[in-house]
Amino acid sequence: MKIGVMGGTFDPIHIGHLLLGEFAYEAFDLDEVWYLPNGNPPHKEAEITKEALKHRIKMVELATESVPYFKVSLHEAEIGVHSYTYQTMGTFCEMYPDAEFYFILGADSLFSIEQWKYFKEIFPTCTILAAMRDDKDIEDMKHQIAYLRETYGARIELLRAPLLEISSTKIRERAAKGLTVHYMVPDAVADYIVKQSLYKTDKDEDSHDR
Ligand code: ATP
Ligand code: MG
Repeated sequence: MKIGVMGGTFDPIHIGHLLLGEFAYEAFDLDEVWYLPNGNPPHKEAEITKEALKHRIKMVELATESVPYFKVSLHEAEIGVHSYTYQTMGTFCEMYPDAEFYFILGADSLFSIEQWKYFKEIFPTCTILAAMRDDKDIEDMKHQIAYLRETYGARIELLRAPLLEISSTKIRERAAKGLTVHYMVPDAVADYIVKQSLYKTDKDEDSHDR
């Protein structure tokens, strides 16, 4: 079994995340792609983040349910204790000793990976598939990949996927302004954002309108 793991905050999941999964599945002949929503950071226990986590998970489920090889892993979301990427991937390797894991990420994450907790521990657990992102240059990416390979013995491959100038941040900004997010997220996710009034800066004002 070759398993892709796509970690993210997914606040909300968007078509950039889904296309990465799809292209990784195709190019690396994967059997499954697991979408892995991050849990809440250890210090943030507030009700508001718990509520947001519930919505993040629901949207990942809505976005992936029609694709048989896309699965949702609640390992980090439900663990109760915060799990870093290296811990999660280590656990997956122990749980599925016959599987080969591919961790999928975008270029911004490739450049920030040395800031991740115990990032060196991630490399023995998986091959990293790094996709382009609109604000990063392909030559810079190739340098970063070569650097991580040489310095840490990391297994990293370039993942070619369509370049989309889309981010969860931009989607939240649009939703906050009451603009449509259709076509940036699957229809079911767009509907969910509207129905649950997500990302509204002033929810009270909104409910007075109804
Ligand atoms: P935010 O704006 O809140 O940071 P995001 O769109 O970057 O959200 P994340 O949940 O932070 O989404 O990202 C999860 C992973 O998906 C990261 O590895 C990120 O690099 C990658 N990713 C997100 N959007 C894209 C995109 N449009 N193209 C390529 N990679 C992407
Ligand atoms: Mg991000």
